[in-house]
Amino acid sequence: MSDTKPWGSEAFWGLGYDWDPQWVLTPEQKALQGRLIALCQSTLRKHAVESDEKRLFPRENFEALASMGLLGLNVPEAWGGLGENHTCTAMVVETIARYGCASTAMCYTMHVGAVAAAMFRSHDNPTIQELMKRLDRDVLVGTLSYSDPETGSHFWYPISSGAEAVDGGWKVRKKASWTTSGGFADWYIVQTTSPDFGGDYSNLSCFLVMADEVKAEPSKWDGLGLRGNQSGAIEVDNVTVPEDRLVGPVGDGASSNDETVDPFFLLCSSACWNGISLGLIDIAKRHTTARRHADVGMRVADYPTIQDYVGEAVMDTNTSRAFVFQMAGAMDELTNHCDWSIHEDLSNLPRAEVLHWMWQVKFVAAKNVANVSDKMLHACGGTGYKPELGIERYLRDGKAGWVMGPTNEVLRQFVGKAVLLGFDSLDYWNQSVNERMLHNEIKKLDREAKKALAEKLLAEAEGD
Ligand SMILES: Cc1cc2nc3c(=O)[nH]c(=O)nc-3n(C[C@H](O)[C@H](O)[C@H](O)COP(=O)(O)OP(=O)(O)OC[C@H]3O[C@@H](n4cnc5c(N)ncnc54)[C@H](O)[C@@H]3O)c2cc1C
Repeated sequence: MSDTKPWGSEAFWGLGYDWDPQWVLTPEQKALQGRLIALCQSTLRKHAVESDEKRLFPRENFEALASMGLLGLNVPEAWGGLGENHTCTAMVVETIARYGCASTAMCYTMHVGAVAAAMFRSHDNPTIQELMKRLDRDVLVGTLSYSDPETGSHFWYPISSGAEAVDGGWKVRKKASWTTSGGFADWYIVQTTSPDFGGDYSNLSCFLVMADEVKAEPSKWDGLGLRGNQSGAIEVDNVTVPEDRLVGPVGDGASSNDETVDPFFLLCSSACWNGISLGLIDIAKRHTTARRHADVGMRVADYPTIQDYVGEAVMDTNTSRAFVFQMAGAMDELTNHCDWSIHEDLSNLPRAEVLHWMWQVKFVAAKNVANVSDKMLHACGGTGYKPELGIERYLRDGKAGWVMGPTNEVLRQFVGKAVLLGFDSLDYWNQSVNERMLHNEIKKLDREAKKALAEKLLAEAEGD
């Protein structure tokens, strides 16, 4: 049996280390995990309730995380970071969500994604390098601003945004319908069409935008759960930024998505959903082993039905965790444990090779948290329905998993379609023509209708 898990001056009341895959962590990572659990117990967890009730951005929790060097978790040690790998990153996010605060875990997920996008193209960019060195010292929270009001969860299609080359830099405009930490982050990675995009929406670029260049109205933010994550709308209104705020070359957006933003978001958000599932199981264990029914002299945990709920929740959640850590390990191997110097060759995109595996990871974790939150609510009965126990808040927080882009509907379709019809059929930017469907529809037209259509198309082609 493993060591006891401390919780302040007592032993932890939820699942012990026997149910955690500790073997995926190095001794240093286990020590970091222990310190982070202690920080969650002393600081992060108590802010979670207030953050949820008052929709407060968890700034104090970020200050606490920075005190452990966690804002620079994936920044190289030579730049003052912890130089940690994907496995450690998944562990950190899961730990924050499970023992601390789910809203903080989501804001941290977006911070990690933004750091990854910045580190990816930091090699010849002194502005990015300087920012990365200051993350923990100055508690500089980053985030990703991608989703567009016109295209919703198709966040890779920023129709309302753009950029143009101007004297001394770039004029950037971005309308984002959702941005975690919006109005509270110190820096943003925003995705727009490229200055030379010419109608080709696959030609994307990324920019670094600072807090004072962003318009936000955080007071308008509201949502079912993750209420401290402050994912409101933001706008960058034709702001001119210096030349080196372009992250990577012009047109690098799609590579940046596939190599950093997507893999890190999918990894960390999945770890967040698993952390919430575990947090729910922990609470259910504590409650059902303490609550007694006087008539039958049994605890709720003594009923086989409740044991079945918990057994299934633990097995499903550990299946999802095993998948997260398996893919974190795969990305560690592919990137020499998150060594950013491999990207000095701009065409080196090893994480992109396993992106379709990361889609599956997120689908499974988000589906599982929805089920586990239902079942742990059932196990705790009416008491679970009230806010005091914490089940109710976690249930609302976990609901974000399914709807956050890429949504589970989209992921399910990506995987099924890619398996059946090949990756090219996904057509992210709506560029390839479905000849089969086109011919089938034309077949339905009579001679006159065909002629009318042909004339219309000819006129359009002349106009083009
Ligand atoms: C808590 C939270 C935090 C967020 N943080 C960020 C952030 O930091 N940065 C950011 O850029 N975005 C963020 N988002 C936005 C998120 O990624 C999505 O863009 C957003 O949830 C989309 O909402 P929508 O109402 O536009 O959904 P829609 O896109 O309108 O979706 C509505 C429905 O249509 C389905 N659907 C859409 N496309 C397809 C398809 N091709 N096939 C089948 N079904 C489809 C969806 O799955 C869904 O069921 C956040 C969202 C949440 C909930």
